[in-house]
Amino acid sequence: MKRQIVRPIDETGRIVLPKPFREMLNLSIKDDVIITVENDAIIVKKFANSCAFCGGDHDIKFGGVLICSDCAKKIGGLAQ
Ligand SMILES: [Zn+2]
Repeated sequence: MKRQIVRPIDETGRIVLPKPFREMLNLSIKDDVIITVENDAIIVKKFANSCAFCGGDHDIKFGGVLICSDCAKKIGGLAQ
């Protein structure tokens, strides 16, 4: 089930991430997030859980960097 909360964008372009959502994702003040645009949506994800290249779900950790298998394949293709 999707939850939604309506928030205004302030005069400098900022929004506050609702506290219930931050708690659901275990996000703390000063944590980094990754922001992507997909079609007509802005997606904010916890940085530590995201592929460093595309922002998708990661499943590989390489040299301290989280990466998804799709990006790993693309990088592998560049090396050949
Ligand atoms: Zn990726």
